[in-house]
Amino acid sequence: MGNLHGKVALVTGSSRGIGRGIAERLAGDGALVAVHCGSNEAAAEETVAAIAASGGRAFVVSAELGVPDDVDTLVGRLETGLGAHGESMVDILVHNAGLNLMGRPIEVLTPDEFDRMVAVNVKAPLFLTQRLLPRLRDGGRIINISSVSTRVASAHGIAYPLTKGALDVFSHTLAKHLGPCGITVNSVSVGYTHTDMTAGVLADPENLKRNIGLTALGRIGRIADIADAVAFLASDDARWITGTKVDVSGGVNL
Ligand code: NDP
Repeated sequence: MGNLHGKVALVTGSSRGIGRGIAERLAGDGALVAVHCGSNEAAAEETVAAIAASGGRAFVVSAELGVPDDVDTLVGRLETGLGAHGESMVDILVHNAGLNLMGRPIEVLTPDEFDRMVAVNVKAPLFLTQRLLPRLRDGGRIINISSVSTRVASAHGIAYPLTKGALDVFSHTLAKHLGPCGITVNSVSVGYTHTDMTAGVLADPENLKRNIGLTALGRIGRIADIADAVAFLASDDARWITGTKVDVSGGVNL
């Protein structure tokens, strides 16, 4: 702990779930954290309050992704928040916000649903990164929250894994491009984890049992399991790891 003092992080979708866990962990390690939400500002304020209560520093950046001018809105508000804390640069960018429209197999998926998932899960991280490149400090970190569904066929449809696969390609392509600046880019491949996104699916005892059975370690993931892996990738200990995908799933389908 404490190895991120002086660093600035933006974690998208950190009002709730895995993103909140990542924001709290990075702030616990000393980073100033921009806690991003789409619409749930009360939850984002709660995350910031929890960080402050633990002695950390954070501020809210609210901007819905996947809508016109999303990146402009986010970056404008981020700049305001950074300025209020005497900062202008970002060291750690975690693309965590994601949309999974469950139960949309190919037979029923609509073009609009596909476009929405692409807009939130792929287009937003790409163009947010583009806009923040001038603010990304050399030696920085970009961490993309991907999914184990890129290697295990998903029961919930085809669009979501496609978007996460695109994010993985984004990671290794960008890793090569930003390597000369000492910026690492990696994906974290998440397995089933208890959050709002999976609450419905995991509330069904049969689904719960089946998904536990898929893991080598015999349980569903906890938010801290993911946050700890992200904190490692954000730290100096991971300086020689780039362009890869870290599987943080408890060993799904080994
Ligand atoms: P949750 O649904 O619990 O939380 C989603 C977060 O993303 C919230 O902070 C939400 O903000 C934000 N968000 C969602 N859509 C948008 C949008 N259009 N614009 C801006 N912000 C948005 O998700 P999880 O914590 O479960 O998932 C986090 C990441 O992990 C996602 O990328 C997901 O795909 C990935 N993942 C999760 C798995 C799991 O089992 N939970 C498994 C594999 C991958 P707000 O509060 O304002 O709505």
